[in-house]
Amino acid sequence: MAKQDDQFKKVISHAKEYGYVFQSSEIYDGLSAVYDYAQNGVELKNNIRDYWWKAMVQLNDNIVGLDAAIFMHPTTWKASGHIDAFNDPLIDNKDSKKRYRADVLIEDYCAKIETKINKEIAKAEKRFGDAFNKEEFISTNPRVVGYQEKINTILSRMGKSLENEDLADVKALIEELEIADPLTGSRNWTDVKQFNLMFGTKLGASIDTAMDLYLRPETAQGIFVNFLNVQKTGRMKIPFGIAQTGKAFRNEIVARQFIFRMREFEQMEMQFFIKPGTQKEWYEQWKKTRLKWHLSLGMGEENYRFHDHEKLAHYADAAADIEFKFPFGFKELEGIHSRTDFDLGQHEKFSNKKLQYFDHEDNQSYVPYVIETSIGLDRMFLAVFSNSLVEEELDNNTTRTVLKLPAVLAPNKAAILPLVKKDGLPDIAKKIVDDLKWDFNVVYDEKDAVGRRYRRQDANGTPFCITVDHDTLENNTVTIRHRDTMEQKRVKIEEVRNIIKKEVDVKEWLQKM
Ligand code: ATP
Repeated sequence: MAKQDDQFKKVISHAKEYGYVFQSSEIYDGLSAVYDYAQNGVELKNNIRDYWWKAMVQLNDNIVGLDAAIFMHPTTWKASGHIDAFNDPLIDNKDSKKRYRADVLIEDYCAKIETKINKEIAKAEKRFGDAFNKEEFISTNPRVVGYQEKINTILSRMGKSLENEDLADVKALIEELEIADPLTGSRNWTDVKQFNLMFGTKLGASIDTAMDLYLRPETAQGIFVNFLNVQKTGRMKIPFGIAQTGKAFRNEIVARQFIFRMREFEQMEMQFFIKPGTQKEWYEQWKKTRLKWHLSLGMGEENYRFHDHEKLAHYADAAADIEFKFPFGFKELEGIHSRTDFDLGQHEKFSNKKLQYFDHEDNQSYVPYVIETSIGLDRMFLAVFSNSLVEEELDNNTTRTVLKLPAVLAPNKAAILPLVKKDGLPDIAKKIVDDLKWDFNVVYDEKDAVGRRYRRQDANGTPFCITVDHDTLENNTVTIRHRDTMEQKRVKIEEVRNIIKKEVDVKEWLQKM
């Protein structure tokens, strides 16, 4: 645990030191669970968003984009169920006065049992070596089977109690498991209560006529209310999707994990409208497609897993998370939900407007079913950033800090470095910058010895360093150094663009899907 905490602390301080993420309003001591993206962070965030948009919208001729407003008519949230049911179960510790999400306390308890399982596996792997069969071990070792059964029993009981809104049983479960306040160890708990997560505000100047509004807690509803507009004006045929990215707001209670859980965050969502009855196939299809998108970034297959939901949201008939191994363990990165016709049906009811599709092939009208893929852009940022940050031991017994960002996402693709600040080398370097900046984000760096500049760019995540030296004056060549291998090659200046392009081109990466 301490090792995980250390790694996470390193991630947070590196993000600040290298201009990726700052705490909001830091000069006023910050605002809890609100963050700003700095000069490098904004580029990385834009690149992640573009990578998603390319894969979801531009490469699919049956998916189109949308940019709906953050403010929506308040009835939207009545119809969607957010006013009545967008709640978290909360529990307070009477001694420490700290507030927790009851379900998170129970899930963290299960995560500890899972750590025990992993320890057993690691021990057995060591003992049996090459002959080790992990699947068999997991399904037959009595200790592991026992642990797994315990987790299943706890989660299924919690799922049922939350589903039935039996909050007394959630508290009973916390007490039976003897779960203590993680900060103080106290087991003196209040009852579990529900708490609505939406931020409210007002529209209009006069107190008497001002209308209550909410900051949207998800981008999805902007898509549902526009379903027919898009379908008609785009002449879309089912199956088709509408995608959008944008800010969402939740008054989160547990907000201690940097940009993992923020009060203002950005979602990248796609709602895929389908014929009723086909939802199982499309649900499986989108689970596969979305996992492939993640894997195309090369961040390690072992760092992803699916988690099927025990407790389904009020709108879903199936739901799974793609979980990622963050520095604090496996946690939800993206949700894939089979939302049935719940949302469109509700908006029909509350607006008194038909939101149906006429299917020419079947000669019938219906309210489409929906499969949703929903990923937090900030969580994806954290996944990429934390996975990329490594300390590497070098041959000469020194270490270097490298941010091995997937090159396609890196904020700057190359740094152009004159070896010295004289003899005309800076002029040539600046000319290279002026030429390459039309195609890629590149930076010019002339301060400090070249070795230090390499290290700085490694820590910044820049995939290439291009050094202009005295040979450049003679033969128009430069050295190009690769961030991950540290290998240097001498190449002609005119070759540089293609070398960079090959490694950072979205097409090269997405074709791996
Ligand atoms: P969690 O269980 O972690 O609270 P959720 O199940 O409420 O998440 P969804 O409503 O399915 O999340 O939202 C879709 C995605 O939006 C999540 O997979 C996550 O990546 C992202 N997300 C949700 N809440 C936050 C938040 N407070 N901060 C950052 N990202 C978030």
